[in-house]
Amino acid sequence: MKRIFRSLLFLLLASTLTLAQRTPPPHKKPARHASAPTRTASARPAAPNSAQAIHQSALIIDTHADTPQRFLDEHFDLAENTPVSDGHIDFGKIKQGNLGAEFFSIWVEPVFKGHYAQRTMDLIDSVYQQAARHPDKMVMAFSADDIVRAHQQHKFAALMGIEGGHAIENDIRLLRDYYRLGVRYMTLTWSNTNDWADSSGDLEDPNVKHHNGMTDFGKDVVREMNRLGMIVDVSHVSDATFYQALLVSQAPVIASHSSSRALTNHPRNMTDDMLRAVARNGGVVMVNFYSAFVDENYRKASSDPEKAKQRDAEIEAYKKAHPHADGSPVTYEETAFIEKKWSAQFPRPPLKSLIDHIDHVATVAGIDHVGLGSDFDGITSSPQGLDSVADLPKITEALVQRGYTREQIDKILGGNILRVMREVEATAKRLQSEGTEFAPLSLEDIELMLGNKVTSAHLVDLIQEHGVSFDLTPAIRARLKAANADQSVLAAIAKGKKK
Ligand SMILES: [Zn+2]
Repeated sequence: MKRIFRSLLFLLLASTLTLAQRTPPPHKKPARHASAPTRTASARPAAPNSAQAIHQSALIIDTHADTPQRFLDEHFDLAENTPVSDGHIDFGKIKQGNLGAEFFSIWVEPVFKGHYAQRTMDLIDSVYQQAARHPDKMVMAFSADDIVRAHQQHKFAALMGIEGGHAIENDIRLLRDYYRLGVRYMTLTWSNTNDWADSSGDLEDPNVKHHNGMTDFGKDVVREMNRLGMIVDVSHVSDATFYQALLVSQAPVIASHSSSRALTNHPRNMTDDMLRAVARNGGVVMVNFYSAFVDENYRKASSDPEKAKQRDAEIEAYKKAHPHADGSPVTYEETAFIEKKWSAQFPRPPLKSLIDHIDHVATVAGIDHVGLGSDFDGITSSPQGLDSVADLPKITEALVQRGYTREQIDKILGGNILRVMREVEATAKRLQSEGTEFAPLSLEDIELMLGNKVTSAHLVDLIQEHGVSFDLTPAIRARLKAANADQSVLAAIAKGKKK
């Protein structure tokens, strides 16, 4: 299964190599200060500096929502109008909240071990399917310019970020494939430590092999992400991984959905020192809305280990009682109702708790380094009044009340992440023009492509571009001939050995 899948991926790689180099169409100036009414402007004109006017004219970008699992596992369509108890994002709520762009999370739940790449591809496909079904309302976006262009066309821009570096299955080529498919950030880990980077989620677990941060391969992943133009996301990683990633990264990083540890003492949150480090790096911290990350009282109440044990036991019991006929794993979506029920026993924190976090990051890291990473559709509790993306205007209202200016609020709502995207894109361009070496092709790579009937001409191109990692011994020559390698391919290999 996996083998076939990887072969398909490689085919895709082989046939789309030039796609990534396509230059984007020239972009026009952002329209967020234009006086033309936006798609959600109300009939009654608002005072020019009212919270409503500021919110409706802003280009609002949220960097983390887990909706793709709903697309894939529940066949949810964005055109459905869902109660907030079921879902945080649909077209109605997007319009009400004036959400301009969303980074949909490609979250690869570790229960898919052995099939991470397939799960990743299925989730990516689920986002494209939504865009294909609703071309009048939604468009796929891959760059800062794409987001601005979508906004001008009054369309919702969909981007994708992978949540959990295990999705690349320790294969840097899969990382490149995901970039080609449009993925524009990757959290180096989710709550699970992988083979090359430590997570903040299992540091206490003695059964997990940790690395004191990142392995050499992990650092290579960061370098390759810089070269591709994929944003390095430090949400979920351990503190050691965080500092090492910042040392290696040549481009600004983001924390796509993390809050402040000084205010709410959760290891998923960032210390003040980490906030200052992101500021020095030029990156941005996108504040998570989850109650247990933004409110110390909620965190303490909900971290009662006895209650957590009960919840986990209930989830396991449900999974046992409802196995899938085809043997595929029971997913988070199916048991989320248990977690929602469990969360509901703790009182929701006030909206003020979330605003305090935004304020704190803006104060410690600076106004240029803070944004919104809701984690909607992946969290089971949010502050009072903030039931879905429809309630985003309440955040702007609270910021205006605290004395934030239009210019500052524009940065928080989307300007900062847009700036970081442009810097990441520029860094990639520079690194690519400096001519970073491609990884040479292995014998197995070439056999895989021959098996998939990649044309000889294309294969010769790839060999010339990448080089090969092996010598063309008589035994290997015979083996490749048996796999239908022709003279042109064999000649390219003979000249392609990299030192
Ligand atoms: Zn997360």
